[in-house]
Amino acid sequence: DSSLDTAWAVDWLRRSAAVVSENRMALIELDRAIGDGDHGENLDRGFSAILEKLDSEPPLTPAATFKLAAMTLMSKVGGAAGPLYGTAFLRMGTAMGEAVEIDSALLAAGLAAARDGVVARGKAEVGDKTMIDAWTPAVDAAISAADAGASPAAVLAAAAAAAESGAVATDPLIAHKGRASYLGERAIGHRDPGAASSAMILRAAAQAGG
Ligand code: ADP
Ligand code: MG
Ligand code: MG
Repeated sequence: DSSLDTAWAVDWLRRSAAVVSENRMALIELDRAIGDGDHGENLDRGFSAILEKLDSEPPLTPAATFKLAAMTLMSKVGGAAGPLYGTAFLRMGTAMGEAVEIDSALLAAGLAAARDGVVARGKAEVGDKTMIDAWTPAVDAAISAADAGASPAAVLAAAAAAAESGAVATDPLIAHKGRASYLGERAIGHRDPGAASSAMILRAAAQAGG
């Protein structure tokens, strides 16, 4: 059937590592404009460490894959984004339980749990110019697609497209959370780095396969 499996989860992390590495400088530039310039370096370090762990301790379920990612991001990535992404992957893994086949409903529930974890930890709302501006439209699109009977691949495609639009929509905003909030109106005209990286990572999920 069309369900997603552990190989998909591992491929998602591998593709995330690749896209973060390719966009390391671009994410650094975004964070230089409205933060402290380390977002690309932070994520590249974290996902490189995930690649090493995937090779040394291959996970056996999607949940174990995401928990491996969570633990690694929490221990290797400082700043705001490490704990936030770590929480996202931890909650997603927990939501998926012992399942080895992820159908559309469980996928959407996992993405929602990830987003809810970021909100619980960081208290950002949509419009605060954070990664939540990518995650929340992605979750809304995923739930709508799953409810309409879409395949897991179509759920992920819808989520990735919504995340990309959400990241672009941070450009004109003033930030209300994170370092960019210190800049007031000077943040206007700059894309939020965490929203940009979230869109890349959700696109990687849509491109991943078994
Ligand atoms: P730091 O700001 O500590 O250097 P990073 O540069 O790695 O950390 O990550 C910055 C990103 O973290 C921001 O672009 C934003 O998307 C995200 N972020 C910061 N604070 C919050 C928050 N409270 N809730 C959600 N996301 C946040
Ligand atoms: Mg930073
Ligand atoms: Mg920093």
